[in-house]
Formats: sequence, structure tokens, C-alpha cells
Amino acid sequence: MKPFAFFTLLAGLILMPASAQTVVIKAGHLVDVASGTVKDNQSILVEDGKITAVGDRVVAPDGTPVIDLSDQYVMPGLIDAHTHLALMEMDGSDINDFGSYYYASLIEDTSMRVAQGTQMARSMIEAGFVWARDTGNNGLYGDVTLRRAIEGGWIPGPNMVTAGRMIAPFGGQFQMQPEKPGLGNPEYLYADSHDELVRAVRENVHYGATFLKLIIDNQPYIYSEEDVRVAVDEAHDMGVKVMSHAMSDEGIRNAVLGGVDSIEHGWQISDETLQLMKDHGTYLVGTDFPAARIGETRYQANVDRNKRARKIGVKLAFGSDAVYYEEGRTRGEQTLDFLRSYVDADFPNAFILQMATMNGADLLGANSGEIKVGKNADIIAMYHNPLDDIEALRGVQFVMKDGEVYKEGGKFTRETPRVLNNPRRKQQRGNMLGQN
Ligand SMILES: [Zn+2]
Repeated sequence: MKPFAFFTLLAGLILMPASAQTVVIKAGHLVDVASGTVKDNQSILVEDGKITAVGDRVVAPDGTPVIDLSDQYVMPGLIDAHTHLALMEMDGSDINDFGSYYYASLIEDTSMRVAQGTQMARSMIEAGFVWARDTGNNGLYGDVTLRRAIEGGWIPGPNMVTAGRMIAPFGGQFQMQPEKPGLGNPEYLYADSHDELVRAVRENVHYGATFLKLIIDNQPYIYSEEDVRVAVDEAHDMGVKVMSHAMSDEGIRNAVLGGVDSIEHGWQISDETLQLMKDHGTYLVGTDFPAARIGETRYQANVDRNKRARKIGVKLAFGSDAVYYEEGRTRGEQTLDFLRSYVDADFPNAFILQMATMNGADLLGANSGEIKVGKNADIIAMYHNPLDDIEALRGVQFVMKDGEVYKEGGKFTRETPRVLNNPRRKQQRGNMLGQN
């Protein structure tokens, strides 16, 4: 070997880590969720976790590795805007059994729930979910721990935004007893006055909440429009969005007028309040359980609400609220069950895909949800066309998140590194030195 050639080879080796992050995806059928159309024989160039070129004339550098999905339908990764990765309701309980999440919080500590959550996070990304908004009920910041472990590369899972502890009027969503006023801990941060609301927002953000959650109307005393505004202003000043658990028409109204970014559930909403949501650009995250969980009557009421919401033009994002145990079924598989109510509301499949990709990204503030230059490379693929049948999503064969492959050929491929530093240490040091 000539010295020059040897040098070139060495240089090539040294450069390899950077070039290894470049990959070209051959997409046989590229689904454009925004327009509800498919383009055949497209290529997607991915560099450093981002999409840098898309089309039928993509030129990749020589030697760029190719992921061949020429027999598959390729689309943006899915987003669940309402989940609880560190909550599994007690075996045998159901949503009609008041407070089944209450029992879970009494019996299981945060560490157990986080351990369980690692498995649920993995099942979510395995099913094609690249982002999840975790909406509380995670013990003492179990969701934040999961998010940090995923961000640090310790465990596989979707990117997360986290609610931390839910901010609620005294009692939260529980009925406590005076002898045991601590029963609602650690799920809720009680805040009743405006000072307490400001304090709760700050405390929650300090401990790792990245998207706050207000419980509006689970007690006879509900948050007023003014209460909501105090919390929302404090959060928005820090660039943190606010969601609200609200079910009654009055509660939803107060939350919308107070400026929240999304309404969770919204089961008893009137057309008038739906119109108010449209006027304010507030997202509705329906969390519509399968009929088997809540009964046909409640299910059909939700289907009706979805029809009304779409007709009025309210912004809709997909969110599941899958929180229960079913033998042999993963959290990721269960989450897909929650798409059914939109099919039954006669939503076009393209519209449903938009809810579960680009709308979710918009709500979460994630640079995801579309296969476009500049977006994060959050990409999934399957054999059947999800525009023809939403059930095609159950056959996800390929998952990429931030340019990293998690699943290929239907098999989970993401290895967990054997040696890892703790990402929290760097952040803690930054805080101490005042360089957040
Ligand atoms: Zn929920």
C-alpha cells in the first residue's frame, strides 16, 4: 500500500462517524398526509437526524447506505398527544370503576411505575409512535424520569413532553378522607389561590414538566377563567404550553377563555363551546376509548362529538389515554385502538393521519409530523396503504426516530448502549454555574 493511499484510508475511517449518520431511504410509496396522496419511487435523504432532501431526483453522496423500503408505504411517525407511560391501571379495573388510577397510585410507588414505563415506552416506539405527550398520573415525576432516560439514550422510546404533577384544586381527581389528606400525593399539586397557581407552575417546571396540565372540573369548585389565565400566563411566559383536563361545558369554556393550548377529553361539550375552541385555536384531544371499555352509549356520544367538532372546524390532535392492562397486548398496540372512534365518525383516513402526525407535532411543538426538508427524520413504513385502511398502521415494519433506526423488517433492532453517562449530571452542573 502506498503511503498516500494509507493516509486516505485513515482519513476515511476518522470521518466515518459523521458519514454513518447519513442514509438514504428508498420509499416505494411515499404517503403525503397533508394532501392525502401517494407518490411512488421517492427517496428521502437523512443527515444528522434531519430530512435534507425528498423526491425522485435525490442525489446522495457516493457510498451512502440505503434503506430499501421500495415495497412499502412510508409516512411520518405517529404522535400520541395524550398518554400515561408510567401508569397501568389495576388489573381487572375499568374506566367505569371510579378511580381505578387512584388504586394504582396507592399501591404502586414511582420507581415501580417507571420500571413498568420503560416497557411501555419501548412498545410505543415499536408500534410507530415517535412522540408522546405524557399527561400526568405518573407518581412523583415518573414521566420526567422516563423522558430523561429516553433523551439520554438509556432506553428506547418516543420523544416525550411531560406534564409532571397535575395542577388541581384541592382533592384533584380523588375523593379523599380527612384522616388521610395525603392520599392524592404525589399525583397532584394542589393550587387554589392565584399565588398557589403561580407557585405550582414554577415548582412543576423546575422539577421537569415541559407541558403543564390543569385539572379544571373534577370537584364542585372548578377553576374559573381567571384562575386558568393566571396559570397559563405564568407558563406561557416561560415558553411552556398548558393542557387542561376538562369534561363539563362550563369547565371547558373557562379553560378556553383562560388561554389553554388544548382541551383533554371534552366529553360534554356543546356546539357553542366547540365554536369558541375554533375561534381561539384551541386543540381538542378527544381520548375516545374503544366501545368495549366504556359501553356503546358513551362511545356513540363521543363519535357524535367528533362529528360536530370536525364540522365546526376545531383543531383536532390524536391522543389515546390508554392506561389499562389487557393480557398479551402492548401499550403501543392498545393505543392504535383509539383511532377507531374517528373512523366511526366518518373522518377521511387522511384527516385521521393528520391528527396523529402533523397536528400532534403542532400541538407538542415538535419538529416532526411531516416528511419534508428540515423536519426531524421521524419516519415509519408498512406494507399496506393507511389512506385506504387505517388498520394498516398495525403492520408497521420500519421505525426511525431522529434519524436512528428502531425497527426494520418488522423486528426491533435498536440496541441499548452498554456504557452510558448520566445526562442529568451535565444539566445539574449547568444549573449550578448558571448556564441552563
Ligand atoms: Zn389521561
